[in-house]
Amino acid sequence: MPEYNVGILGATGAVGQKFIRLLQNHPWFKIAALGASSRSAGKSYAEAANWIESAELPSSVADIVVKECTAKNFSDVDFVFSGLDASVAGDIELAFATAGIPVISNAKNFRTDPTVPLLIPEVNPDHIQLIDTQTFTKDRSGWIVTNPNCVAVPLTTSLKPLHDHYGIKSVILTSMQAISGAGYPGVPSLDILGNVIPHIGGEESKIHAEPLKLLGTLINGKLTHASFPVQATATRVPVINGHMLSVTVELENKPASEDEVIERYKNWVSPIKELDLPSAPDFPIYYHNSPFYPQPRLHADSEQGMRTSVGKMRKSNVLDLSYIAMAHNTVRGAAGGAILNAELLVRKEYL
Ligand code: NAP
Repeated sequence: MPEYNVGILGATGAVGQKFIRLLQNHPWFKIAALGASSRSAGKSYAEAANWIESAELPSSVADIVVKECTAKNFSDVDFVFSGLDASVAGDIELAFATAGIPVISNAKNFRTDPTVPLLIPEVNPDHIQLIDTQTFTKDRSGWIVTNPNCVAVPLTTSLKPLHDHYGIKSVILTSMQAISGAGYPGVPSLDILGNVIPHIGGEESKIHAEPLKLLGTLINGKLTHASFPVQATATRVPVINGHMLSVTVELENKPASEDEVIERYKNWVSPIKELDLPSAPDFPIYYHNSPFYPQPRLHADSEQGMRTSVGKMRKSNVLDLSYIAMAHNTVRGAAGGAILNAELLVRKEYL
């Protein structure tokens, strides 16, 4: 495999740090440049970043001088990962794509753009063809791909087998979201310790919309979104990593039993299995038999944090099925998901 030089925008933040950790020893991608705000630019990475990962800050990046996020500063990279704050991601990512540098982003800004793939490789790998409809540059060298909100990832991944086999009529969920989802320094400790906060600004509208784009159908370059209603209640809980969801689903066609549905999860085969991507988990969906599982502390790191864990499948007294889903928010829901997106784009020769 050729080696790709990659840049990381927002490298000092919670997601940026996860990129740095996950890209250590990556077989295809080598970190060549790091960017953040003018507060960090000009400093060494070790000086600029308040390192919050449990593994030590890798010596290979400690002395890299952080740059301002301009396309000129990143002209030597093959593409960039973006973990930029949403307040600045829109303008900066647009400038990079327009300058011919592909952007693989975590930020929300381009997720709803009809030409930009919102991608979970195991759910909608075919949507990468939307790149061909982008016009950021005349020669199509600059493009943008996004990954979904960190709740939309376990939600949509766990809905995918249900959507394919039974059709979905409606979804109601409550998310219990980890503190690391708010970035660094995030939620004040006095607000979150021993507490649950019943609101996360802007979160619920993303959870309502993104699964519909992800489960949409692409025909002749045109994406038709799925059309079922989603009702979400997003809460912040005192957990470090791992967003857990309590989901209730109404289906178009009724399964014979919960056991039938559990078997579908257990036998589900990822559409990218044969591609042998370095960061792809063996079990993108893993069904736990114990009603006490999944738990964020026990299972968020399973398969390097790339798994969506599902459990407690039962018949709903109100709609059809209720279950629990959980995934690591800064890995599967952010940096790890973006790296897997890049790996898919390499295999499909967009990179
Ligand atoms: P964060 O910890 O607050 O980090 C934000 C990053 O953006 C920092 O590197 C910061 O650099 C940089 N930045 C801020 N203002 C900038 C500017 N004017 N110019 C250039 N860089 C600037 O946030 P995070 O949690 O890592 O989230 C990053 C992005 O990923 C957000 O869009 C978020 O919504 C999304 N996301 C996060 C999660 C999660 O679980 N945390 C999951 C999915 C998606 P300085 O250090 O120099 O200020």
